[in-house]
Amino acid sequence: MRLRLRDGDATAMINYLDKVTQDNQKISHLHRLDKTGKLQDVMWVDARNRAAYQYFGDVVCFDSTYLTNKYELPFSNFVGVNHHGQTILLGCALLSHEDAETFVWLFRSWLSCMGGKAPAAMMTDQDAAMRKAIRIAMPMPQTRHRWCMWHIMQKFSRKLGSLTEYPQIKVALQNVIYNSLTPEEFEEDWVVVIKTFELDTKKETKQCYKWLEGLYNQGEMWIPAYVKHIFRAGMQTTQRVESINSFLDRYLKKNTRLYQFAPRYCKAMESRAKDERAADVNCSRFTRPLVGEFAVERKFQKIYTDAKFVEVQLQCTRVCYVSPICSKVLSDLEVEHTLSDKVWVWSKFLRKEISLSGRKRTYVVVFNKQTLVAKCDCKHFECYDIVCMHIIKVLDVENVETVPAAYIVDRWRKDIQRKHSLVKVSYHDPEKTEKVMRYDKIMNVVEPVAMRGSLTEQKLDIVIEMIQNIVLRLDESNVLT
Ligand SMILES: [Zn+2]
Repeated sequence: MRLRLRDGDATAMINYLDKVTQDNQKISHLHRLDKTGKLQDVMWVDARNRAAYQYFGDVVCFDSTYLTNKYELPFSNFVGVNHHGQTILLGCALLSHEDAETFVWLFRSWLSCMGGKAPAAMMTDQDAAMRKAIRIAMPMPQTRHRWCMWHIMQKFSRKLGSLTEYPQIKVALQNVIYNSLTPEEFEEDWVVVIKTFELDTKKETKQCYKWLEGLYNQGEMWIPAYVKHIFRAGMQTTQRVESINSFLDRYLKKNTRLYQFAPRYCKAMESRAKDERAADVNCSRFTRPLVGEFAVERKFQKIYTDAKFVEVQLQCTRVCYVSPICSKVLSDLEVEHTLSDKVWVWSKFLRKEISLSGRKRTYVVVFNKQTLVAKCDCKHFECYDIVCMHIIKVLDVENVETVPAAYIVDRWRKDIQRKHSLVKVSYHDPEKTEKVMRYDKIMNVVEPVAMRGSLTEQKLDIVIEMIQNIVLRLDESNVLT
């Protein structure tokens, strides 16, 4: 896939990005030219992206299919999840080729702009070139690479749609993929589906079976039952990529020209920043009432953002379905609790989790009497950083009145001031007057001072004293002019 440049497009785009930089806004853009001097690839991140990455750069989804599906522009974007669980933009690129060499250039350029620290988890499309590039630019063990469920589900109709029993096969496979709780369960049930529809024996299903077998053999890259111990910040949901793509659709139309692209993308970033500010304001004004008496609920009501508190509350309300079966002393410090619980599965139709009637399973929670920390084999905490209903039950049984610090995750807290919320999205506005541009320059210098000055009373006093001096100097300059 080539970048299709029309006359003047590339120059206009680079000029725009240069203008933003001239406005003294901290945008980083890197580009490569081909042998003939034409724009080949371009990547950019702004100051807000960089600041947000410090807090939310642990899990990043990289999507390069967006514009290649519908547009002439091969557009790639990096997205993450903020403290409200909202999708945030962390940079973007326009690429001339979708090969490993190009992706390595992109990932390295992007990481260097982001301070060099690679994400702990990187979610991408199931693409060999991308996989190779991630291995080179973001090697294990710092970065775990996983496939994004959305991309795989998108391919189902393309790869299997021609089969006569496709609707039934799709439902059966989705059921196995989403609802298996262990790798063993997944493997057993998968084979049952393959055998039921005779996918491995019929001549007409040979190609489809080969594709499915490839997916099955790479289960550790995408099947929820295999990857649930990896923190993914809620990024594994199939709706995530879909929602960011439909959001960008509002800003980028089919006929968007390259030179119009950068300002429109900046507008999209500004709109996301506005949503985040609105959610911050909502959290500071509104507190959701408690539904029960668990210490966990009381604690997180005070310190987590509303969206994340809702998740904690959901776990609290489900504790009533959890029944202790037995407990066993493992050592002087550890007790193992076995609990029975309903099986909760995601219903695509109802768009919420539902319990499967009559189906129950057991969970094992190991509680440490010294640290007061309990670990559950459902791995909900490891995957979402939200304490699960089984741990809440065990903490209650063990009479733990305070929430252990190990369950309090900074990532979801509302009482932390994050630097990126003070940083504006960078864009160039040709309408800006000289005065507005001077004001922006002042704000760029003042913001970091305000951040540091607000840390302690002593620092605040220094800032106030210096500002009073500045006011005096400005008054003096009025007299002189
Ligand atoms: Zn659990």
